[in-house]
Amino acid sequence: MWVTPETFEKNIVWLKEKFEIIRLKDWVSTSTSTFKNKNYCCITFDDGWLDNYQYALPILVKHNIPITLFCVSEMIESGLDFWPGRLASYVRQSVGTGRWPECLDDWPWLNAVVSDDEAIKQRPLGQANMDKLIDGCKIYSDSDINQFLDIMFENERKDYVQPRRLLNTIEVREMIETGLVDIGSHTKYHTRLTTLRTDTQLTDEILGSKLSLEARFGVTVDLFCYPNGHWTRPAIEMVEQYYLGGCVLRSGWNYQGQSLGDLKRFNMHEDIANEKVEFFSRMSGFI
Ligand SMILES: [Zn+2]
Repeated sequence: MWVTPETFEKNIVWLKEKFEIIRLKDWVSTSTSTFKNKNYCCITFDDGWLDNYQYALPILVKHNIPITLFCVSEMIESGLDFWPGRLASYVRQSVGTGRWPECLDDWPWLNAVVSDDEAIKQRPLGQANMDKLIDGCKIYSDSDINQFLDIMFENERKDYVQPRRLLNTIEVREMIETGLVDIGSHTKYHTRLTTLRTDTQLTDEILGSKLSLEARFGVTVDLFCYPNGHWTRPAIEMVEQYYLGGCVLRSGWNYQGQSLGDLKRFNMHEDIANEKVEFFSRMSGFI
């Protein structure tokens, strides 16, 4: 999901015509009576991508727009990508070297996902088939997939280093110092909370990520965002215990007085976001 810088700037201008753009933490922490007869909009970014700093930040500063940036606490200095990026990199390089799909024989866990799907075995795969492969891997837990990939990259003895795609500490600090960027938590390792088996694991991802980000950046982390939008009832209850609010991926508006552990949002991608009618149709819930 992405938009060009030009589209993003247009979106900001359009939003300002219809809404007052405020900090999400202000909306969730202010009493109902303060907000009356007005529509408010809060902007959030998930995952902590480097391009948020490179392209979005200058536009936010130019228009004085606050956002919440949901960071994955232990990925910030890891230099690693999320597993879908790592897997895609492996597959693309295997396709490039002519080893795809024969290399699947070396990796039974991946072979089980591909199964008899001949479309995924094609060279090149195409984005739709890559998405299908990544989706199929979700039968495994995130930590299992990362372990599979660690072994895969070690055994292959190839240089799979990609250009860094996630923000580092210095860049996040610079974003915070603009006074426009609030840091939220997106767990420690971008773990889908539905795959966790114990309360200890859940606490580690939900509370552990908050404590880690607060210690690293010296800010209060009040908001949470569920990886992949996947949540469970215990996860929401824990988020409501430790945070002011949590964001899901379900589309829709939020109203004062509603529960704050499952705040709805509208996803924006270039195909919808670059036309005004489609942009507002998405925000109206029509598309
Ligand atoms: Zn995410």
